[in-house]
Amino acid sequence: MSTSVVVCIWGAGEGGLGAEAQEALTLSRDLAAALGADIKIASLGAVSDQAACDAAAYGANAIDAVSIDATGCEADVYVAALEAYFKANPAGTIVFPQTFDSRLVSARLAARLDAGAVMNCVGFSVDGTVIDATVSAFGGDTRAVYRCASGGTYIFSINPNAVVPEPSNAGAAAPAINAVSADVGGANERIAVLERPEGAAGPRLEHAQVVVAGGRGLGEKENFQLVEDLAAALDGMAGASRPIVDDGWATPAQQVGLTGKITKPSLYIAAGISGASQHMVGCAAAKTLVAINQDPDAAIFRYAKYGIVGNCLEVLPELTAAAKKG
Ligand SMILES: Cc1cc2nc3c(=O)[nH]c(=O)nc-3n(C[C@H](O)[C@H](O)[C@H](O)COP(=O)(O)OP(=O)(O)OC[C@H]3O[C@@H](n4cnc5c(N)ncnc54)[C@H](O)[C@@H]3O)c2cc1C
Repeated sequence: MSTSVVVCIWGAGEGGLGAEAQEALTLSRDLAAALGADIKIASLGAVSDQAACDAAAYGANAIDAVSIDATGCEADVYVAALEAYFKANPAGTIVFPQTFDSRLVSARLAARLDAGAVMNCVGFSVDGTVIDATVSAFGGDTRAVYRCASGGTYIFSINPNAVVPEPSNAGAAAPAINAVSADVGGANERIAVLERPEGAAGPRLEHAQVVVAGGRGLGEKENFQLVEDLAAALDGMAGASRPIVDDGWATPAQQVGLTGKITKPSLYIAAGISGASQHMVGCAAAKTLVAINQDPDAAIFRYAKYGIVGNCLEVLPELTAAAKKG
């Protein structure tokens, strides 16, 4: 069995490695160091030269680009390809960035490889060859630690935003990209993805440095534009509480909280949001939280670094005007 920690990605184009892959590599680097292992990337799809340079900067020593005949995410084909790859190149520790696609694949791959699967990982500690995986549970409200006994194969799926990506070997020489073929003959796609969450491509709320979020205090759908305006003026993204997503004022991709996105921005501005725990799960990790609420006793003020007691319909345009000036 290889002594590599193998990080699985879905290809990487000229823009280089995506943020999720960088996060997975950042955590994998410490894990690999503690296990005395190398880091290898197994990519389902082509890897650009830029992505190979990025991989080297994050400590990857080898890249296998597994070619498959698939258009978009075809989970059965992906599982078959990775099963063939890992049966030919056994690995004890396999890491996925936890994306929409990897959720479809990682647990099924674990079943095929007779491996353990641990989702939502945010950190690891290692004692000899025993790995303790810390996972985010209940939407980030709490943590659990799973002990993975020595000797087996484990698949770890890394929670988005688990760490701040940190290259360690800037300027390191890019490893060669080995083209590997995988036999996926006979893999038939049994489940088709008919609809993907909006925003699955493009900038993601989870990675935004500035989030301006609106809640029921906005009063009506048209006022969500005030949130969008301030977000744009601050080069950030707009978020929303669940009730206004349910009512169609904002999109599901904009929902922050337990059943939405877990954000970790430098600045989170919450306008007309009460501060229910299910919402706070998605923004409590913000470096600076600013709350605008007309009720001075609103729970959100308990979490806020700066609080503005006032009508968000008046405060938001003023902040937007100030942001545009400044
Ligand atoms: C299982 C479960 C999962 C959930 N998941 C989520 C989730 O992922 N995300 C989420 O957000 N919620 C979630 N919820 C819902 C959550 O419990 C709250 O109901 C929701 O967050 C409240 O949204 P809100 O703050 O926009 O609305 P409200 O609670 O109605 O608060 C509106 C606030 O706006 C203030 N306000 C009113 N008018 C103005 C004004 N003009 N100017 C300034 N302030 C004003 C009010 O004082 C009030 O504090 C979940 C609930 C459950 C049970």
